[in-house]
Amino acid sequence: MKRIYNFSAGPAMLPLEVLEHAGQEMTDYMDTGMSIMEMSHRSKSFETILEKAKNDLKMIANIPDNYEILFIQGGASLQFSMVPMNLIKHGKADYIVTGQFSKKAYEEATLFLDAKIIASSKDKNFTYIPNCSDLNIREDADYVYICENNTIYGTKFHKLPNTKGKPLVADLSSCFLSEPLDISKYGIIFAGAQKNIGPAGVCIVILRKDLLYNDIFKPTPTLLNYKTYVENNSMYNTPPTYTIYMCGQVFQWIKAQGGLDVLKQRNIDKAALLYDYLDQSSLFKAPVVKEARSIMNVVFVTGHEDLDDLFVKEAKKAGFENLKGHRSVGGMRASIYNAMPREGIEQLVDFMRDFEKKYGGIQ
Ligand SMILES: *Cc1c(COP(=O)(O)O)cnc(C)c1O
Repeated sequence: MKRIYNFSAGPAMLPLEVLEHAGQEMTDYMDTGMSIMEMSHRSKSFETILEKAKNDLKMIANIPDNYEILFIQGGASLQFSMVPMNLIKHGKADYIVTGQFSKKAYEEATLFLDAKIIASSKDKNFTYIPNCSDLNIREDADYVYICENNTIYGTKFHKLPNTKGKPLVADLSSCFLSEPLDISKYGIIFAGAQKNIGPAGVCIVILRKDLLYNDIFKPTPTLLNYKTYVENNSMYNTPPTYTIYMCGQVFQWIKAQGGLDVLKQRNIDKAALLYDYLDQSSLFKAPVVKEARSIMNVVFVTGHEDLDDLFVKEAKKAGFENLKGHRSVGGMRASIYNAMPREGIEQLVDFMRDFEKKYGGIQ
């Protein structure tokens, strides 16, 4: 078996133990004589898988009782429209734009309500997080929106904005379950599974129950209404059964690792290996300001496009895949989610050191 170090931003690496266990259960799930992919979503076996996944998630993420956990298809991107459709009350929402995903969410919201950008880091190509301690939030804004970890730019809100009492809606696609969080500070959290949770195909939505309003936006299509998912335990129609099973397997893996406190420390240590090297390198640089650095997506550049290309090419040959930065940023990006082992980063840093020795003088 060959496994490479895959630094993809998503779909991304999954824990090897999880993949191996799923492999063992692939053709005959717990003596049912069938694969989960072949199983009715109304069967006892699948119902148990869904319940266990929900309960494990509730436990590891410490989700209070006044929140619903929903499994919704359509990716994180569908939430860009579901959020405004479902939370519209006064018809206004305030957005903090710190990258492409929050920009897309803002643009989508303008289809449904009066969306306003109240802070942005666009002026410096999204390399920092604006100060959000005293923003001009509208009196009648229905919610305040952020993308907490900016997958493309490698920044993260290390302090949540002061929303002045408005519900905070946060896209946590690329940082959910990388560290413990205080769910009670949020109105809605959502996260596409394919970054740090499981395979593509489902978005996990955690929603405070008092935000389930009575159909203000009309007509809200049935499948775009949060209530449909709440009332039918995310099974109004066929859910992505295998993806939910895999997410459940990852939740069990997280429990076995010792939970989110353990993963947080591990993730901080992993990211520090890379940032510490970058900060003393004379070839590579991290463009993101220190206070805003993500521990999940590490962006770096040489400052020379051809050298960046050469690095990505040589790294691939050496077994480090998907290090090319997002097409809108260039340079390199190492996505180092929970499943990336420490050795992957140690070896990457060794490789970067050698590359610097070899090509550092040519700049
Ligand atoms: C990947 C990503 C998205 C888009 O997710 P899809 O599931 O492809 O819709 C949205 N927000 C963030 C922060 C992401 O990292």
